[in-house]
Amino acid sequence: MEEVDSKLRDKLASVMIEYRQSGRSALPPDCSPIFKDLCHHSGLAMPLDGLAETSTNLTQLQLDYLMDEMRGFPDVIGGDYADLKPEKKANFHVAICGSGVNGLSVALRCQRAGIPYTVLERDTDICGTWHQNFYPGVRCDTPSFVYSFSSDPNPNWKHYFAHGAEVKEYLKRMTDKHGITKNCITEATVESATFDESSSMWEVRYIKNGEVKTMRSNVYVGASGQLSNPKIPHIPGQEVFEGQACHTSRFIPGMDFTGKNVVVMGTGATAMGICPEIQKVAKHLTIFQGTPQWYVDIPNHKKTITEEEQWCFRHVPFYERWYRFQQIRHILDFYVDVLRAGSDANKKLQKDLTEYIKNKVNHDPELVDKMVPPHPPICTRMLVDNNWCTMMLKENVTLVKGRAKEIKEAEVHGPRGEVAPADIIIYATGFQSTRFCTASMKVYGRRGIELAQDWGSEPTAYLGMSRPNFPNFFMTYGPNTNVSSGGSIIWCAETAGRYIGQCVAAMVRDGYKELAVKPEVHDKYNAYITEELKWTAWDDKGCMSWYKNGNTGKVTNNLPMGLEDFWGKTRMVDLSDFDKKL
Ligand SMILES: Cc1cc2nc3c(=O)[nH]c(=O)nc-3n(C[C@H](O)[C@H](O)[C@H](O)COP(=O)(O)OP(=O)(O)OC[C@H]3O[C@@H](n4cnc5c(N)ncnc54)[C@H](O)[C@@H]3O)c2cc1C
Repeated sequence: MEEVDSKLRDKLASVMIEYRQSGRSALPPDCSPIFKDLCHHSGLAMPLDGLAETSTNLTQLQLDYLMDEMRGFPDVIGGDYADLKPEKKANFHVAICGSGVNGLSVALRCQRAGIPYTVLERDTDICGTWHQNFYPGVRCDTPSFVYSFSSDPNPNWKHYFAHGAEVKEYLKRMTDKHGITKNCITEATVESATFDESSSMWEVRYIKNGEVKTMRSNVYVGASGQLSNPKIPHIPGQEVFEGQACHTSRFIPGMDFTGKNVVVMGTGATAMGICPEIQKVAKHLTIFQGTPQWYVDIPNHKKTITEEEQWCFRHVPFYERWYRFQQIRHILDFYVDVLRAGSDANKKLQKDLTEYIKNKVNHDPELVDKMVPPHPPICTRMLVDNNWCTMMLKENVTLVKGRAKEIKEAEVHGPRGEVAPADIIIYATGFQSTRFCTASMKVYGRRGIELAQDWGSEPTAYLGMSRPNFPNFFMTYGPNTNVSSGGSIIWCAETAGRYIGQCVAAMVRDGYKELAVKPEVHDKYNAYITEELKWTAWDDKGCMSWYKNGNTGKVTNNLPMGLEDFWGKTRMVDLSDFDKKL
């Protein structure tokens, strides 16, 4: 059998090399007669990725979605936008606040359409999260080939889970390649955006070099991210601390943990990344745990992609597409059941992960008590185990159950009288995630109505993007768009980019001065979202997460539907959803 395998492999390799040398282009997958067979086999186990065999057949909707995604989400309305008249485009402008993956995705669509746009970014460089987060250990916990634009695959990933700098490099390359960089203004902080009803234009006020500037635009896009404004808890005594302290997304360059007593507040995704790096060199690391987390073991999490496989990604036609296809196919298969509160799949996962933690910490009763979460899995963001359990067994690590109570000059005190020596405090305490774009700017719609006030305590939007009374205004990564059901935020960015691009193109093509989502369309969609959230594990009353509004407990951030369902709702804008003004 091995001999046959090897002969088959050699034959395949020679066919592929001959094919490549011939210069012939490969057929797109959906034209291939063997495509259906390949889809069937895409359900095979992927042990290195930690993914078991898939258990469901792809539905037609899932297949359509996957095919569209493999082709880079082309525009279904407007095609290549060739029908947009140059003089109409020249008189149009889109202002985009934020240069993370979402802002760049909208910029990409405008760029393709030839519609003038400007990206305003308050930081010193573009790329959002991937510029701002450079703490030790920062990396994706979504596989690199899924955390990339389907329209701009990256055959050059060096790791299965890319490091932060690698993601930034990829995004910069993509932005340069498409000619977007020249339309980005950095160190430009948007203070407010106001809709002027007399002209149907947005007036965007921003600060650049200490000066207040105004930009008038037909469309305003708030792409300021859910995870860009740090949330630092108020702890009595913070002001008397004599050491260095920072939030992970405002990391102090060159900060050295060697031989230091370090305190980390928080145990979420960021703590999972940074703590093992600190532990390696610190004298002592104390971690204050608010909410215990669930995490899975993924064997290739820290692995470098071999030279041979990198070669395949670069040279074998559709190898990258196929690899990505398989991963997304597994996501579609896995999440629906496991996401359901109280489902057999969720209970089984809880049992398996509990066993996993117990085994990893050698059944140490104190650690088991602290580390095994009382809430079901998925209700908080599922993390990838970055040697977290192994780290807890080290002599120089202490895990404190509960949040810090008081800070002194060189100590942090815990809820039960624990005292941790501290030269450095790292706040891995997350972001003002439930405030969306209102965390960093004011947005005024019709009649001067302010977005944060309009929302009250529970932000909502149609498809997470638009809101009645805010014409020509779109949000990205807005309310209920976070795909905690697998997938990646770049996926959100691409679906939003295409949808917003279509709205903008419709305005240019048909001369609409205003597009505002109809209140009944917004309300119906959000009633559906509220209903759908009820069956999810995120809604668990016993668990607190960054998906939930702190005051009301409502899940404001997550998208309670399959990727293919949201894809179906956003792939082609329905202009009848909007009130229009010519
Ligand atoms: C450390 C980290 C790791 C992550 N890993 C993953 C992962 O593995 N998989 C996954 O799917 N998701 C991940 N995410 C979540 C998500 O993918 C990223 O946050 C992503 O960058 C979101 O893109 P964005 O464009 O919406 O926002 P951001 O990347 O946050 O960009 C928003 C930009 O807006 C700018 N801005 C904000 N307010 C203003 C203002 N008033 N004026 C001007 N500019 C402004 C900010 O400076 C920022 O550059 C991660 C997030 C973090 C923080």
